[in-house]
Amino acid sequence: MRRFTSIVFLFVSLLCLLAVTAMWIRSYFRQEWIALAIRFPVPRLFTLGSFPGRLDLGFDQETTPPPPQPDLSLPPFSAYPRWTTYSDHVPRLPPSLSIHSYYLPQGVPMHQFLGFVWVNHSPAPLPGNCSYSLMIPYLYLLVLFAILPLRTAYHLRLKHRRLYRLKHRLCSTCGYDLRAHAPGDKCPECGTLVPPVTKPTSSA
Ligand SMILES: [Zn+2]
Repeated sequence: MRRFTSIVFLFVSLLCLLAVTAMWIRSYFRQEWIALAIRFPVPRLFTLGSFPGRLDLGFDQETTPPPPQPDLSLPPFSAYPRWTTYSDHVPRLPPSLSIHSYYLPQGVPMHQFLGFVWVNHSPAPLPGNCSYSLMIPYLYLLVLFAILPLRTAYHLRLKHRRLYRLKHRLCSTCGYDLRAHAPGDKCPECGTLVPPVTKPTSSA
């Protein structure tokens, strides 16, 4: 059961690793959002966005009823469909501009720490709204999802080496050739006890 669980975790990790890699590369070509609108008890918008180099977790809330909009470019959250998606090309900007100016309006209170970006614009950009956003570098997600596969690969390698050394009568610790030594002796290189001779399997 434990083995089955670890295989499932490994499989999920590998899938996430592939997905994060693909999204990371894609993030430099397209910026995308997916938004979930919840209207009870107050209109809220949960967003998952992909911006150049970063995954964005966003939360927006209407704090007061929105004033009449002079233009119709941004409807109030209460008017949003339940699910919204948006996808657009990353605008090509002069390389002198920072990566955040790809998508962030200028003058937004923004805190950066070790590559994380925390944006808190309340109230802004629409009057009567507050909006929070946490941007996580794709690199960190990549490292996170790579831990389990790398660990598994390392353990498989150790196991393979141990079996190989046992089969070829090499020292399990240092790989010294122990064919001339009797079981129970000590390895002349590192002092590990020589294991009993394993019977060759019929299939080998
Ligand atoms: Zn040894």
